[in-house]
Amino acid sequence: MRPDFPLPDISWEPTAEFWAGAARHELRIPHCEQCGRASWYPRDRCRFCGGTQFEWRTMSGRGTLFSWVVVTHAFLPQFQELVPFVPALVALAEDPAIRVATQLVDVAPDALDFEQPVRVTFRPLSFPGVDGEVVAPLFTPA
Ligand SMILES: [Zn+2]
Repeated sequence: MRPDFPLPDISWEPTAEFWAGAARHELRIPHCEQCGRASWYPRDRCRFCGGTQFEWRTMSGRGTLFSWVVVTHAFLPQFQELVPFVPALVALAEDPAIRVATQLVDVAPDALDFEQPVRVTFRPLSFPGVDGEVVAPLFTPA
């Protein structure tokens, strides 16, 4: 296990630009240079046309709530201080078929609803006993 687990590995090449963008407070998603479709999660080939070249674009950060759970029991000690927290899938406004795995913040878990408008917010992730932090695109009600 990496010593900085559960922080994301920002050096892993396929998603490095996602994390570099987040550090600049930009939500970055790769798009196929051949057909123009957004491609998330990153792959070697476009799932629509098989293209192999991708261009990272900055998204608006607007979206809708596709799915979520409310975590009330931490299965790992690093997450103990976070509970209750709300992992979620957010459908992006530019292409609702693109769903970003994220976390909702500044929400009342009982007040959430499907397709509720949300917007990105950039927050540092940090965990007790783990050195460093990583800025991540999280979402909050719009
Ligand atoms: Zn394509």
